[in-house]
Amino acid sequence: MLQTAAGKEYMKDSNCIFCKIANGEIPSRTIYEDEKFRVILDLGPATKGHALILPKEHYANLFAMPDELAADAMKLAKKVASVQKEKLHADGLNLVQNNGAAAGQTVEHFHIHLIPRYENDGQTIGWKPEEPTSEELDEICRELTEN
Ligand code: AMP
Ligand code: ZN
Repeated sequence: MLQTAAGKEYMKDSNCIFCKIANGEIPSRTIYEDEKFRVILDLGPATKGHALILPKEHYANLFAMPDELAADAMKLAKKVASVQKEKLHADGLNLVQNNGAAAGQTVEHFHIHLIPRYENDGQTIGWKPEEPTSEELDEICRELTEN
């Protein structure tokens, strides 16, 4: 259990590096902090200013996040993204949020990547589009919507 200045106790995982960073046990280049989140510079940035939003509570991924905290994380993403865009003169910005090893998640503590983009920055963040048939799309739509 960790005690915050406000006296609130919450869970953290003693083996989780992002718990340690988010709660200030391991130093980081922090660009924003409040009671619920710390935002740090990524040590292996895709571009200049690549930052990570870390909740101070430990949740492995989006599926484990309480709705309210997930909503707060997105609000914060908008705030930090606006600062990155203005101060670093970014031309665009990617929000990336990986869940599970299959999706590229390497640190199992929820985080949102904020990746400022610059014209001709040479990065590719994307996917190879597949070409499903109309029937395949209909079937997927059914799978996702049937009770
Ligand atoms: P993901 O692949 O979505 O789990 O992203 C993990 C990210 O965390 C990568 O972009 C790493 O560069 C970054 N990272 C890992 N360890 C640290 C650290 N100690 N400080 C800052 N960023 C880190
Ligand atoms: Zn953690």
